[in-house]
Amino acid sequence: MTPELDTELLSEIELFHNLPTEELEALLECLQVVSLEKEDILFEEGDLEDVFYVVLTGQIVVFKENKNIALRGPGEYFGEIALLDSSPRSANAKAMLPSTLLKIGRESFETLIRSNPGFSQSLLRTLAERTRKDIAALNTSYKKLKDQKKFASNLNRILDDSTNEIYAFDAGGLQLNKMNKRAQDNLGYVSYEVLDLTALDILQDLTREELDFLIQPLLDKKQSLAVYEGRHRRKSGETYPVDIRFQLMETDKGESVVALAQDISERVSLQDKIQRLAYVDDLTELPNRNSLLETIQDRLEDQNAEPEGFALFHIDLDHFKGINDSLGEEGGDALLCEVRDRLQKEFPRTVSLYRLRGDEFVLMIPAIETQDHATRSANKIMGVMAPMFHISSYDIHMTCSIGIAFYPADGRKALTLLKKTNKALTKAKSSGKNRICFYDESLEPQALEKLTLVSGLKKGLENGEFVVFYQPKVDTRTKKIIGAEALIRWNHPVKGLVSPGQFIPVAEESRLIIPIGEWVLKEACRQLKIWQDGGKAALTLSVNFSGHQFHQKNAVQMVRDIVRDSGCPVGNLELELTESVLMDNARQAMQELAELKALGIRLSIDDFGTGFSSMKYLKDMPIDVLKVDRCFIQQLEIGTNQAIVKSIVNLAQMLKLGTVVEGVETPEQERLLELIGCDYLQGYLYSKPVPLAEFEALIQGQNGTGPGDGQM
Ligand code: C2E
Ligand code: CA
Ligand code: CA
Repeated sequence: MTPELDTELLSEIELFHNLPTEELEALLECLQVVSLEKEDILFEEGDLEDVFYVVLTGQIVVFKENKNIALRGPGEYFGEIALLDSSPRSANAKAMLPSTLLKIGRESFETLIRSNPGFSQSLLRTLAERTRKDIAALNTSYKKLKDQKKFASNLNRILDDSTNEIYAFDAGGLQLNKMNKRAQDNLGYVSYEVLDLTALDILQDLTREELDFLIQPLLDKKQSLAVYEGRHRRKSGETYPVDIRFQLMETDKGESVVALAQDISERVSLQDKIQRLAYVDDLTELPNRNSLLETIQDRLEDQNAEPEGFALFHIDLDHFKGINDSLGEEGGDALLCEVRDRLQKEFPRTVSLYRLRGDEFVLMIPAIETQDHATRSANKIMGVMAPMFHISSYDIHMTCSIGIAFYPADGRKALTLLKKTNKALTKAKSSGKNRICFYDESLEPQALEKLTLVSGLKKGLENGEFVVFYQPKVDTRTKKIIGAEALIRWNHPVKGLVSPGQFIPVAEESRLIIPIGEWVLKEACRQLKIWQDGGKAALTLSVNFSGHQFHQKNAVQMVRDIVRDSGCPVGNLELELTESVLMDNARQAMQELAELKALGIRLSIDDFGTGFSSMKYLKDMPIDVLKVDRCFIQQLEIGTNQAIVKSIVNLAQMLKLGTVVEGVETPEQERLLELIGCDYLQGYLYSKPVPLAEFEALIQGQNGTGPGDGQM
């Protein structure tokens, strides 16, 4: 609705506020009313040179280059866009609501000003006022702009400080248009190079199609985030793993994709490491147990080929713990690596070598199906161990025990096979170490019955099912029996005589060896007393004393009580302790040995040469006898073995210790040992361990000329 033009209306207009009525009347003459409908454009790329407008009703928006620059409501002076905008004035005005404007022609306006000095004065005042307001408005927008700039630079700084790589690229052409410092540094670009790149220059393994596929859901607004794990390519061509999150960002230049990438090299290498730890033995870098089980199982499950037969050799170094304890972990590690080197050198690449744990290795040798063939390979393994190991300037003699199982005869699953080699190995170890044992069914119940074995042992102890057997020791020069080693046997009500190899390991594990060992000691002392009373006072008896017994707090007290209660001749009693038990904690052992020694008991080191003895302690330990291990005697013809026995005997002589060599089986061995100068011999050549009556018969059989008093 077009309003009625009158002086009252005019005087309400800010611009004409101060004009007296006559001037307003004059003004009325040169005014024209213009009506605009919504969206009507007042002028386009226009020039206000000849005319200016005053908004009476409605709302007018002034915009320039599509940007809204001012909104003018009723009563507002409209011509001032010239003040806000520079020349040439090229803004457009558009009606937002149906509007009424006053149109004032320039010429008539000028006439008006010229004829009315008051008019120009009040106009100037109004303009000055407007200008002040505009400057204030300008100041506010300038401050806003400054804040925005600061914000933008802060934002850039935050982006640059970010440990994530951030870059943005055009969703259509994929050109990069922004990259933070972290990304530039990591990718190796300088800032001006960035704009020449596309996202595909960075994303190593994505094709254009794949990247489109990835970001399309963002463009379709179906997803707000796309996640991708892949690799980034540096300027140098090198690549590294990244975890990327893509998001869409609307900008005035269109749609950009912002990529937030995290360098996950560390995480990936940690994962690799974990993977490695899971499958590779850290020390020897050999594949480990997991790897063994998996590779063998894979092979067996290979659908394409019927897997060929093979044999698994489970190798365990004898008395390795002693070496580790005395040479330190480093020495032990060096030895294990040397074992690895030797095995790898001996066997072709088709043979796989694994390290299970500690001193256990497994060899998988293909195309072996007979025991004969396997025995040859096992001998090879033993041969590999035969030469001295030189570790930390020590010469170490090393033997091993081997358990063997065959595929497919013993099983069709990797784990089953490994369990079986382990059973065979346990058997090899418990029957004296340094030997080969094949898996066979008879090993099964033994393992299965471990638990019942423990309860069986307990019952056996209560029911008096144990017996002591005696294995003679002879004087090397006279070949006369001077005494015996007491060796336990279990007279099982159902199984009959069970040898210690079958139950001592379980007894050790369950610590039942403590009461069992105590029983043997009591028996031995009782027997010594009987012999003394029966005129065989010179006979000596040695008793095996296990590590568990030795490490008992009240070990010495226990021995003292037994010896005292039996009333036996203490000097004829000998305790056999293994090298590793003594060297385990040599300093503490020394103290305990001294206390045992103080009781008058003789002490010997059993299985000497298989462990590792520190000379430092050995020379100060109150030991009476070194008992040379059976393994050196078995192949005494071998030069090195002879040399070892010789040097042990020399060592013993130097330390003023007696020597016993056990495991003597042939006259040839006896002859050699005599030459070497061992004091006493023990072995099947003279007798196996036998029951008391038989042992006494053996003594009787020596023409009645027993040791000492000649009455036997
Ligand atoms: P050890 O103390 O080294 O005992 C020597 C083993 O070698 C005995 O086996 C003996 O029968 C065997 N032997 C002796 N001469 C020969 C020979 O010429 N050739 C061969 N091939 N073997 C020979 P045994 O009686 O089966 O005892 C095995 C192991 O059981 C013993 O080894 C010992 O460590 C343990 N043991 C036996 N009795 C006891 C005991 O009362 N207490 C403890 N703690 N351990 C015992
Ligand atoms: Ca022994
Ligand atoms: Ca022995």
